[in-house]
Amino acid sequence: MTTTYANIIDGQRDQEGDGFDVMNPSTGAVAGRAIGANEAALDRAVAAARRAFPGWAATPWADRQAACNRIAGLIGDHAAELAELLTAEQGKPLNGVGARFEIGGCQAWTSYTASLTLEPEVLQDNDEGRVELHRVPIGVVGAITPWNWPVLIGIWHIVPAILAGNCVIIKPSENTPLSTLRLVEIMQEALPPGVVQALASEGEIGRLMTAHEDIDKISFTGSIPTGSKVMESAAKTIKQVTLELGGNDPGIVLPDVDPKAIAEGLFWGCFINNGQTCAALKRLYVHDDVHDEVVEALAGVARAMPMGDGMDEDNVIGPIQNRDQYNIVKEFVQDALDKGAKAVCGGVPSGNDLFFPTTILTGVEPGMKLHDLEQFGPAIGITRWRDEDAVVELANDDKCGLGASVWSADPDRARKLADRISAGTVWINKHGMIQPNAPFGGVRKSGIGVQFGVEGLRECTNIKTIIR
Ligand code: NDP
Repeated sequence: MTTTYANIIDGQRDQEGDGFDVMNPSTGAVAGRAIGANEAALDRAVAAARRAFPGWAATPWADRQAACNRIAGLIGDHAAELAELLTAEQGKPLNGVGARFEIGGCQAWTSYTASLTLEPEVLQDNDEGRVELHRVPIGVVGAITPWNWPVLIGIWHIVPAILAGNCVIIKPSENTPLSTLRLVEIMQEALPPGVVQALASEGEIGRLMTAHEDIDKISFTGSIPTGSKVMESAAKTIKQVTLELGGNDPGIVLPDVDPKAIAEGLFWGCFINNGQTCAALKRLYVHDDVHDEVVEALAGVARAMPMGDGMDEDNVIGPIQNRDQYNIVKEFVQDALDKGAKAVCGGVPSGNDLFFPTTILTGVEPGMKLHDLEQFGPAIGITRWRDEDAVVELANDDKCGLGASVWSADPDRARKLADRISAGTVWINKHGMIQPNAPFGGVRKSGIGVQFGVEGLRECTNIKTIIR
């Protein structure tokens, strides 16, 4: 029997509207159904959030912390159910760095975030007067979240916002709405009605949210073109925005590395969540001296990783989540091969399903789509380098600037090189390893603002200054 997951408005399941099927990308079967919210449902959700806001904003910080900790506990209680639902709609395996890992991350992120505080600051206190800086909630936050890490990214948008005293309306991707709807339903046990609502939609609600007069801020994770539209639409009602957009992260491997020692770290840097990760390694620059050994070691790891239906405990890599993304990856790989790149493993698949072989191409150069654009999938292009200044220039020559990494046996050398890379985060001897206490955001077209830690929490507040 197919389960229908309701929207959540004012603490209640809301079933008004047409249902739509959400497909399991591994099997092509229906994973479940969601209700497509219409404009009236959005208005109801916004009204509920506005009603809840004064009370929630006035709730003592410690009580909001307790509610977030209760949410962390509820996620733990429902972890198995959420992980299975996530695997069914997203495709990522239950095992490995997959669905259980994501749900575990949700619990850990929520607990850590719940421990944060934002104390008032005294900027001046002397005979001439006293200046206090307070952080106050913004109001109603609209969160628009993607299909790659839907539950974890949902938590990143919801938890700091409600801890800071805001109310939230989350709109998950139409590709993966089910786990977010269920997550928000589960959360209701810890929250007053109206503090968090969830609306699924097959189109329009995202745009209507960004234009809504009674939503005060939009936080969006997704593509650069849609991020630009979010900003444009939010400008009309002077909404704040936090945008976490795409990346085309470079990784620079120095000649002093031990190829076998770094191979597994490189693999997960490139292929975590099948490469469908904003801060995955997407351009790999390997020094000529170690190029062949690094490529062989990386390909060795890739060949040993079982791919298939994520419900099977043996698999650690799943399908690409949707056909559009599959076609992008296929096009980029074909373009690179046509322009002279060589496939060390994988290549353009001929099957009709969404399983795309883990693909490693050498001889990838600027001018190839795989180098210049974000593939957001299981294909990495490797570029050989000899000149450090030239490779740094190449790494920085991108419209995105989310993450980057430097790989070396010499931490000081790697650290110095990190200073020359222009990105929101630079990792040393790892890639994409985000953590809840480290601010995360991009430069250039990778976004505006940061998430995580105290800096991320501050983005969920307005400054209120009291002067006497
Ligand atoms: P998009 O970036 O296009 O985002 C789709 C979401 O944006 C939907 O929820 C949609 O809601 C909403 N939306 C669309 N138009 C507007 C608007 N004008 N205002 C507000 N919201 C709007 O995602 P795709 O799934 O199409 O992915 C495209 C590319 O994005 C991928 O190829 C990948 O490169 C990148 N991506 C990046 C991610 C990241 O983590 N940074 C995650 C996922 C994808 P509605 O349907 O209601 O209109």
